[in-house]
Amino acid sequence: CYETRTYSCLRPPIPLPPPNQPLSVAEFCLSIFSSSSTDGATAFAVNSTTGQTLAYSQFVSQVRSLAYSLKKQYSLSQNDVAFVLCPSSLHVPVIYFALLSLGIIVSPANPLSSNSEIAHQIQLSKPVIAFATSQSSHKIPSLKHGTIILDSPEFLSLLTRSDIDDDITKRVKVNQSDTAAILYSSGTTGRVKGVIMTHRNLIAMMAVIHHYNTIEAAGCDKPPRHVTFFTVPLFHVFGFFMLLGSVLSAETVVLTERFVFAEMLGAVEKYKVTVMPVSPPLVLSFVKSDLTKKYDLSSLQAVGCGGAPLGQEVAQLFNKKFPNVLLVKGYGLTETGGGATTTAGPEEAAPSGTAGRLSENMEAKIVDPVTGETLPPGQRGELWLRGPVVMKGYVGDEKATAETLDSEGWLKTGDICYFDSEGFLYVVDRLKELIKYKAYQVPPAELEQLLNSHPEIADAAVIPYPDEEAGQIPMAYVVRNPGSRLSEAQVMDFIAKQVAPYKKIRRVAFIDSIPKSPAGKILRRELVNRSTSGGLSK
Ligand code: AMP
Repeated sequence: CYETRTYSCLRPPIPLPPPNQPLSVAEFCLSIFSSSSTDGATAFAVNSTTGQTLAYSQFVSQVRSLAYSLKKQYSLSQNDVAFVLCPSSLHVPVIYFALLSLGIIVSPANPLSSNSEIAHQIQLSKPVIAFATSQSSHKIPSLKHGTIILDSPEFLSLLTRSDIDDDITKRVKVNQSDTAAILYSSGTTGRVKGVIMTHRNLIAMMAVIHHYNTIEAAGCDKPPRHVTFFTVPLFHVFGFFMLLGSVLSAETVVLTERFVFAEMLGAVEKYKVTVMPVSPPLVLSFVKSDLTKKYDLSSLQAVGCGGAPLGQEVAQLFNKKFPNVLLVKGYGLTETGGGATTTAGPEEAAPSGTAGRLSENMEAKIVDPVTGETLPPGQRGELWLRGPVVMKGYVGDEKATAETLDSEGWLKTGDICYFDSEGFLYVVDRLKELIKYKAYQVPPAELEQLLNSHPEIADAAVIPYPDEEAGQIPMAYVVRNPGSRLSEAQVMDFIAKQVAPYKKIRRVAFIDSIPKSPAGKILRRELVNRSTSGGLSK
């Protein structure tokens, strides 16, 4: 619409269930799944590390059994929060669906996070119970209902009860406006925050997947059953919504406990994987590695890439090397529950470099960050998004919520983008502070706080530094105290001991003072320009 300069999805809106109808996203997915042609014996999930499988009938009965246990044995109530700190395994989907069916809020986090990172997340989401493995459980402080250890006989007994007298989830009334999940993101600035996703947000995402499944199924006698290999973690929004979508679509999901490229290729061959959600570094590995020739990857139909920018050249090389695999690109944020744009639409081929067109039910504006003016096609500004998938806000942080979501429901993404005249989005830069290392979020403010706690550091700033493999690496500019001989290695080591591996500082430069605005804000752009122009002062 050129008058208001808002962009909307070019395809007709997808109807959603009436907002007042009590409905959890788990119920939404399971009811569509149960009307599919899949029989219970079909494999729902495979653990490619151990070779274990879980049939759909087992999945459904384990969800019921766990839900029953959580209600009867642990006395969990609706809107309690459960913290989930586990690597991908067959248990994770069962936990997510049991919690979501009961209206208990799922809060999944990266098991590689450090104790202090987890303490911060727990302070935000206030869980009463946690799910962890024996390897990660020591990181979780004492909670009201304790921590359930997944690799323990007790957990197995919660999943396989024989004394269930009714399906307890049928008696729970979950409103769509209730919180379904708290995911973690640093947003545009500062430390990690808890993103509130409602059942309605997630149902809106699932409705889009269901819509396309219906179209795909209409054209054929026997709709294709996809086998999806999850290279993206299930605690990140990308893996989280793809997993819900896999149940709804009655797919087989292949999960791995530890990611090794060659093993993943072996699993694609063995399980005849058809679809893979990936982040850009994996597309690069596909392009560069000769190992791809050693495996039969002919089952692969589509690779969906998102989470960080994908280089145009890498995309072109991928298309050349794998002409039969559709490379679908998408853009989104945790705050939009994942995909806000995609190249997967049924229209003509997307031009190279684009992150696609707006997904169904989404609206966008491009806003000049200085004047607040909305900009026409071809002009760059901050992307604002609106739609039913946009988060409710940040948990317990009204200030950050108000800074990110305006009164009309527009979410300020912190990304500099433009639309072309055909409605294709191009993401060109980041206005926000966020660094993305292999699509993982690294909030500079968190690392700066740690650096500033070092007795020999007077001041510090952390910026993204370009890297072919990771996309970006965190780089620190450090002002040493007078007389200090602190080395680069010592700075890196100091941080590495306190953060998850992907947040490590991988480059350090010493500087006399950190450039700041009169208001004391770090002038990151100046440091970014300095870092890439070779002007490092050691
Ligand atoms: P997350 O909340 O971890 O998904 O991170 C969201 C951020 O990742 C976005 O605001 C962008 O800065 C970046 N991002 C995600 N997808 C893309 C993409 N296709 N192109 C460029 N940046 C992206």
